[in-house]
Amino acid sequence: MSSFFYYFSSKIYATMTTAILHTTLKENFGFEKFRPNQEDIINCILSGQDTLAIMPTGGGKSICFQLPALLFPGITIVISPLIALMKDQVDSLKANGIEACFINSSQTEGERQFYIESLKSNIIKLVYVAPESLSFLDTLFNSLTVSLIAIDEAHCISAWGHDFRPAYTNLGYLKNRFPSTPILALTATADKVTRKDISAQLNLVNPQIFVASFDRKNLSLEVRPALDRVKQIIDFIKDKPNESGIIYCLSRKTTEELAEKLQKTGVNAKAYHAGLDGKIRSQTQDQFINDDCQVVCATIAFGMGIDKSNVRWVIHYNLPKNIEGYYQEIGRAGRDGLPSETVLFESYGDMIQLQKFASQGLNAEVQLAKLERMKQYADALSCRRKILLSYFGELVTENCGNCDICKNPPLFFDGTIIAQKALSAIIRLKESEPLPVIIDFLRGSKNAYIYEKEYQLLKTYAVGSDLSWFNWNQYLIQLINLGYCEIAFDQQNKIRLTAFAKKVLFDGEKVQLTNVQKFSSEKQEAKETKTKLTANSLFEILRKLRYEISKEEQVPAYVIFSDAALRQMETERPMSDQELLAIDGVGKAKLEKYGDAFIKAIIEFQKAKVVKKKKEGTTYQETLEMYNRGLSVEAIAEKRNLGLSTIMSHLAKLYLDGAPIDLSQFISNDEVQQIAAAKITLESPVALKPYFDYFEEKIDYGKIRLALAIIDKQGILI
Ligand code: ADP
Ligand code: ZN
Repeated sequence: MSSFFYYFSSKIYATMTTAILHTTLKENFGFEKFRPNQEDIINCILSGQDTLAIMPTGGGKSICFQLPALLFPGITIVISPLIALMKDQVDSLKANGIEACFINSSQTEGERQFYIESLKSNIIKLVYVAPESLSFLDTLFNSLTVSLIAIDEAHCISAWGHDFRPAYTNLGYLKNRFPSTPILALTATADKVTRKDISAQLNLVNPQIFVASFDRKNLSLEVRPALDRVKQIIDFIKDKPNESGIIYCLSRKTTEELAEKLQKTGVNAKAYHAGLDGKIRSQTQDQFINDDCQVVCATIAFGMGIDKSNVRWVIHYNLPKNIEGYYQEIGRAGRDGLPSETVLFESYGDMIQLQKFASQGLNAEVQLAKLERMKQYADALSCRRKILLSYFGELVTENCGNCDICKNPPLFFDGTIIAQKALSAIIRLKESEPLPVIIDFLRGSKNAYIYEKEYQLLKTYAVGSDLSWFNWNQYLIQLINLGYCEIAFDQQNKIRLTAFAKKVLFDGEKVQLTNVQKFSSEKQEAKETKTKLTANSLFEILRKLRYEISKEEQVPAYVIFSDAALRQMETERPMSDQELLAIDGVGKAKLEKYGDAFIKAIIEFQKAKVVKKKKEGTTYQETLEMYNRGLSVEAIAEKRNLGLSTIMSHLAKLYLDGAPIDLSQFISNDEVQQIAAAKITLESPVALKPYFDYFEEKIDYGKIRLALAIIDKQGILI
């Protein structure tokens, strides 16, 4: 160990207890607890050891070098390939009151000189540098104390990785130049070959390797059949009017078409792909980061340079090429740790197209195998997270409870007859037709192709006309997955039987199939009410405040406070500095800068709530007074200029609160009984509409409300 570290470890490190790390974490970053592995990685670096940290996207890599940077006496150099990201990281650090800057080729010579001068003054703790811009610092290196070198996206150094950058290959010299400075290499790429390559090429000395779990529990996983994709997406977005999301598409054309369709329905959506003008691309990216564009329809070119922590959902419009890519893309959702949704649309057509690409591209065999794993994931009938994590080498025994399969376990039924019909259709068609033709044949379709081939004359034509196209499609895919038939990708995607088909056709083997759920709009409706209820919530008020401040300060909104911090403010309602400081994500600097504005907003919200309650109280009171004076319900409604059913609801509420009101004059016992019976049949719905519909609109809302009040209070049994 070098003299510097010897000095460092003996004088400071010995006293640098867990408590100091936690205080630094809270005061400077506002966080209460370390995420898994962060503390161990930091301790390792502080002891002067080279370190390789493998953490998933959103796992919290930045803290691993930002926190030690504050404790080290000298400067921390952060090498990052992503110029756009540097500015955001520096903004985030500054919002936390930490001095940082970046040096890259996007700056003018003057700007660079300015930062180089300030580096000399030793105020700056972290400098972000693009690998190709390291030479700008060369002359400085002799006079600077470099305490730590962090290499972000370290897989870029490896030709084995999926994002090789030539400029990274020169970074090996850093170890020679600064032999006593610890290097921290960070990546989200888990594969072992890349890992080894990183250590070797960076000349790391006995690096300690940390591999965090790739499980991102806050991301829900869902796969849906690609039926009416656009409509499904529109419904999905409608449900979350203010939430940012990314839709990944396979082709540039799809991104543009989809963005246009979404715009037509009023969604603030933009397209993004490598073919667009650079200016437009960076504008779209900025708007997305700054919450000025809600949805980006993008090819996989989008996302690498994005640190936005409040991406609330990610949709894959098309099947991704492999699980690594898919996992990285969904990983862009929910970095703040809040629940976030991911949906993948699976289509047979995509599969065929991807298969074609893969077989024609470089390294075809590997690409095809990776695609196959992706497909197995999409077709899975058991917990999806288990499959994903096993792909990354993690063994999980428990089901996750946050994927569509766990939430809606498939129900199997005896599908032997269906399977027999399908497999014999394949035989009748001489194993020479692709899936859509088989379905048309089974369903007795009268289209031109069938007639041209005279398939309508074959014996089993139309034996499956009782099932929908959707169902046949699902069942055939299941039969393929079960191994009874296969797609000949090299022969126009003809469906052929495998040796196992015989067992079903001739040896009496039973086949279990399941009905894949079509996405139901019911769930959607329930969610819509939820959104309406939250439109005026404290969260929305705080979100708007954050947006205004972000505009003034010209930084992304999530840099001010994360969604997670706002959610916590909503539930805990902090009204003093002390209370606000207890929120995760509020450190000293942010408390000073933004504390007053947020506390004020929370207090105002509370006050408004009290006034509203009082107002509601008086309106009931007025109705009660008139009622006590003997006025009829109609008269009260007229005098108060309110609807009859509103007055009824007042009376119901007053009655429930214990006022001596005789409701029997408004509703007969018979009607109460009917409504009580309906309540049981309808399984006690919260809304009144189901009752209204149940009685075919013959009993009005006022009466339903009264009856329910009576039932609630008296607990009528029928
Ligand atoms: P990565 O680089 O691994 O993708 P980041 O470093 O950008 O992840 O961190 C992702 C998000 O998690 C950021 O919004 C960050 O502020 C937040 N975060 C990091 N560490 C913690 C922590 N200990 N507690 C709460 N939030 C954290
Ligand atoms: Zn699961």
